[in-house]
Amino acid sequence: MEGRNRSGGRFNDSPREMHKATCADCKNECEVPFKPTEGKPVYCKECFSKRKPQRF
Ligand SMILES: [Zn+2]
Repeated sequence: MEGRNRSGGRFNDSPREMHKATCADCKNECEVPFKPTEGKPVYCKECFSKRKPQRF
């Protein structure tokens, strides 16, 4: 059993580090919760959700 990582039980308390990036789709400046990789396109929230395959 693994019970060592349960300190508090919440994940929302620690603020994520945001990185500024330019959306490869709409070219808007956006912030992403991960470090943008050089050479890889970064999408803003909107474009990212737009690119997700939609269920019908
Ligand atoms: Zn975008």
